[in-house]
Amino acid sequence: RTVYVNGDYLPENEAHVSVFDRGFLFADGVYEVTTVLDGRLVDFGNHMARLHRSLGELDMTLATDDNELLAIHRELVQRNGVDQGLVYLQVTRGAADRDFVYPATGTPATLVLFTQHKPLLDAPAARDGLRVVSLPDLRWNRRDIKTVQLLYPSMAKMEAKRRGADDAWLIEGGQVTEGSSSNAWLLDHEDTLVTRALSHSILPGITRSAVMAFAEEQGMRVEERGFTIDEAKAARAAFVTSATSFVTPVVEIDGQPIGDGRPLPAITRLRERFIEESRRRAI
Ligand code: PMP
Repeated sequence: RTVYVNGDYLPENEAHVSVFDRGFLFADGVYEVTTVLDGRLVDFGNHMARLHRSLGELDMTLATDDNELLAIHRELVQRNGVDQGLVYLQVTRGAADRDFVYPATGTPATLVLFTQHKPLLDAPAARDGLRVVSLPDLRWNRRDIKTVQLLYPSMAKMEAKRRGADDAWLIEGGQVTEGSSSNAWLLDHEDTLVTRALSHSILPGITRSAVMAFAEEQGMRVEERGFTIDEAKAARAAFVTSATSFVTPVVEIDGQPIGDGRPLPAITRLRERFIEESRRRAI
């Protein structure tokens, strides 16, 4: 596999980042994951817009513009022959002597990109649905910034697996914030799609906003509001959205089946149409 590090395309075993990189020492970095379908990038512009927002919130600067970033994404997809999968991009505040104070301005950011092949369209969870368990949301309070500080989501996912489930839905103040790496949704008994409003408490998912716009175009009602785990358990359907999972049904929460315990056809249809639309718009 060819990866990209600070201007160079290298075989992965020849690519290196400093031991003093602040991404490594302080989780001082941000990332994006852009889906690849048919060798093309899904929603690239919105992923880069969110990257710049994350960088801005952390006073980080990146000397590479979006045209160059697009060229790097495409070059890696082409070199690695990715038809279906993702491009991962990470920017950290660069390498400097270990100090809580940020390094001097002018310290170059570290920019790393790599690809992953993944069968996204035929993911088993699309057909079978996900089983989730609720866990307390113990992450920091700026989850709107897409930082590489992913230890708690990783711990929550492991706890979910230990309990025989696929993933965790995180709870704060009695309401669901989001999944460990996805936004959480339900379909209520008035056929309204419900997902939590944006704030510092959740990541502004690119797929969340794309699905919201698409569902409205399709004549569905969408409401942005918080909901409890009990409301989700009693809903007509529950699902998650993320770049690599699109729309994926949730069929069980804390051992309790949602609806008849199988993916609701309306949600499967939403997934399929949304994927068609994403494919059509990919660049
Ligand atoms: N929330 C969290 C915490 C995530 O990690 C992700 C995926 N990175 C999402 C939501 C979904 O965001 P997106 O649709 O941009 O992939």
